[in-house]
Amino acid sequence: MKKLTGNEIRQTFIDFFVEHGHTAVPSMSLVPGGDSTLLFTNSGMVQFKDVFIGTDKKPYTRAVDSQKCMRVAGKHNDLEDVGRDDTHHTFFEMLGNWSFGDYYKKEAIAWSWQLLTEVWGLPKDKLYATCFEDDKGDIPRDDEAADVWKGQPGFDPSHVLFFGRKENFWQMAEFGSCGPCSEIHLDLGEERDNLRGTPHKCGVNGECTRYLELWNNVFIQYNLFEDGRLEPLPAKHVDTGMGFERIVSVLQGVDSNYKTDLFTGSLDVLRSLTGHTEKEMLADFTPYRVICDHARSAAFLIADGVVPGNGGRNYVTRMIIRRAARFGTKIGLNEPFLAKVAEAVIAEYGNFYPELEKNKATILDNLTREEIRFARTVEAGTAHLENLLSELRASNSKTLDGHKAFDLYATYGLPFEISRDIAREQGLDVDEAGFNAAKEEHSKASGGGKAMGKMGGEDAEFFAGILKDLQAKKKLGANGVEYDPYNSPRVEGEVLALIVNGESVSSASLDDQVEVILPKTGFYIEAGGQVNDTGIIQGDDWQIEVTGIRRASAGVIVHIGEVISGHPKVGDKAIAEVDAARRHNIMRNHTATHLLHKALHEVLGDHARQAGSLVAPTHLRFDFTQPDAMTPEQIERVEKMVNDAIAEDMPVVKVTKSLDEAKKEGAMALFGEKYGEIVRTISIMESGSLLPADSKLSDFKKYSYELCGGTHLDRTSDIGAFIIVSEGSAAAGIRRIEAVTGRGAYELINKRFKTLKQAASALKSSVEEVPAKVDVLQDEISDLKKELANLRTQQAMSTFHLLLAELQKVKDANVLAAEIPNADADTLRALMDKFREKYPQNGVCVLVSVADGKSTLISTVTEDLVKRGLKAGDIIQSIGGKGGGRPNMAQGSLPDGTQVEDALGKVVKAVEAKLK
Ligand SMILES: [Zn+2]
Ligand SMILES: [Zn+2]
Repeated sequence: MKKLTGNEIRQTFIDFFVEHGHTAVPSMSLVPGGDSTLLFTNSGMVQFKDVFIGTDKKPYTRAVDSQKCMRVAGKHNDLEDVGRDDTHHTFFEMLGNWSFGDYYKKEAIAWSWQLLTEVWGLPKDKLYATCFEDDKGDIPRDDEAADVWKGQPGFDPSHVLFFGRKENFWQMAEFGSCGPCSEIHLDLGEERDNLRGTPHKCGVNGECTRYLELWNNVFIQYNLFEDGRLEPLPAKHVDTGMGFERIVSVLQGVDSNYKTDLFTGSLDVLRSLTGHTEKEMLADFTPYRVICDHARSAAFLIADGVVPGNGGRNYVTRMIIRRAARFGTKIGLNEPFLAKVAEAVIAEYGNFYPELEKNKATILDNLTREEIRFARTVEAGTAHLENLLSELRASNSKTLDGHKAFDLYATYGLPFEISRDIAREQGLDVDEAGFNAAKEEHSKASGGGKAMGKMGGEDAEFFAGILKDLQAKKKLGANGVEYDPYNSPRVEGEVLALIVNGESVSSASLDDQVEVILPKTGFYIEAGGQVNDTGIIQGDDWQIEVTGIRRASAGVIVHIGEVISGHPKVGDKAIAEVDAARRHNIMRNHTATHLLHKALHEVLGDHARQAGSLVAPTHLRFDFTQPDAMTPEQIERVEKMVNDAIAEDMPVVKVTKSLDEAKKEGAMALFGEKYGEIVRTISIMESGSLLPADSKLSDFKKYSYELCGGTHLDRTSDIGAFIIVSEGSAAAGIRRIEAVTGRGAYELINKRFKTLKQAASALKSSVEEVPAKVDVLQDEISDLKKELANLRTQQAMSTFHLLLAELQKVKDANVLAAEIPNADADTLRALMDKFREKYPQNGVCVLVSVADGKSTLISTVTEDLVKRGLKAGDIIQSIGGKGGGRPNMAQGSLPDGTQVEDALGKVVKAVEAKLK
């Protein structure tokens, strides 16, 4: 059989399951959208978690994907093993097929057997299957799966093995969905046994490397309650995961993931840089493995918008780039080289993951910049660390204080992981908890470090119960509460449920904090940066002020508010009304955000991608990837482009369509954002106001095209005006623009105009004359400053002339050592020149001036005395000063607290000592 490439293996997996009725789903971003509990997407499960919890529904019941994963932080952290062995990665891909209440064990097992043995041709007699048998005896043995295995053509029934909870039972959390797993293992043969010849537990789930786990099939069939009760789920699911790099290594017959063709390009680039032969490389493979792994992770992270920085995800990107750079120095790579490796990564993966190609320039640029930043400080940092480590050894300790390690990071940019690498290379260690504590303190002190949010869906079960109840009473349909923020700012309906203090109640009282469920709502739920709507729900004799709204579980939307009059009761007629003026302001800011995004692309380039957004009633905030500060001209151009688009009165068209279709049409999708199969698209069309009335929208060109669930205006002119309030840095590599529109813009203009009028009145001028008046004032100030400086020099000169009379004779030299009040370095140098004019030979002059607590010290020695061994710099040193310069002229300062007179008193001695 022809050896498949890595890319072909991924594709055959996806094609196989598509042929069996699965929908091929793209990988979600490494930045999990809508899940603040996770730093990175770390398994295939993340994308479908909400489906299993029941808060999300998909239009398909079978899916197949290859998911990008990162395991570099938190519970799943493989960093320490990366590079040391052939199997660990920080970034990897997880192949998976999924059934959401559709097929079950029979199909899942048969298909995995078919794919492994028939499509990929693995030897049937070398494959083993594990099934679940409870070691505690509480949960029934999974004979169903075992029997299905025994029925597979060519499968050796004695190869079914049973294992307990640790190996073969899966739980999403302590309670909730769970079920048995069935893993497929491959016997690689005796020669791949790393413990061959020594007594050990040799077998599936044993101690050695002979048996390799290939694929895990999870069968989600129970709901586990807190009291230990286990109930079958009404809908059973299948969740499978197969490590992509691992299956590629098996199918390509190599003994290391790093020897698969996935890494060939990267390794070739590295070897061309180091000049190593393949044999030399394999003899010291660790640096190569670390660099390949980290360069690949960094490329994927940056493609998903995570640029190097100091906090959270950005820190991880920074850390792995710096770690790779350090391992580069171990194989002689001292110039930035990671961009070259990343190019190989993009060539290998860019076809399947187009975000890599799309962000190529940003990836390469960020890598090189980060390597340069690191190179500037790494030597000082490692030298400092070496000192700390030798102190540690001297004191017979093993572990470096975490606060000291943090100082190394804060001062020299040496990430914890690198300090630890270096310490461990010398048999020492670094205190990780202490480092994290110091980092936390620091980020609190600098106002950052937002805590990770609570896991969503905690009370989902409670609300699912309410939904069931309302559906049974026919108060709600199959889809639950109807959500229409686009067309229904005012909704009439019956109060279906009231929740106070987490309990369902039949009525609520004045001042109660209450959650309200109605059959339908027009309140927008915070998403895509656009904030929640607020408003009022009122009955005949009561009112609830709505301050928020949320999706509590699938099909359940609750209004959050406070009773401000009367006693609302379940069953009352109610009218729910969105605060229209506030919503209108929000819509202005949202439509303006799309125009801004477009303008940034035009002015800065396609790399200026959205990295965060806030659409509030008062203003909008937009973060985007961009390495440098925008120039005032660029800011002005962007502002003008947006205002031109407003003035052109462009129509805004909202259409829902399939995600695929929208992407094919080139709609802009945002990283970190989770999209359903059906998406809402917002097109802003190039102005049609002057076209004939019967022209169709399809006649127009799209000016901006985005996937967006937000609420938008019908025409851009409704924005009124757009003013950028500020442009600044949000994080390393990310800029932030804040802007106002409509009423906010009017208020800003009004405020600024008032300030300008005040300035004009203070300057006794008209508004138009303010700049000219200010220029005149500045000229006057600079003239006055010059005049003052002249006066000071003159004053110093006259002091100096008096001092010349006090010259001392030391041997045959004329020595002047004096303090000049109130003089700067320039003045002192001018005085030196005067001295040398007067004493072209046999002259030594040392002058000190103290101003604002800081001293300036200058000394000069004529050439003939220099030849006799007297140097200007030596004089500065010998009177206790710091500094240096040429032999005949040196400059420096006296340490704080030095008595000037004492220092000057030492000059004569210093001269005497040299002129023997
Ligand atoms: Zn063994
Ligand atoms: Zn939007």
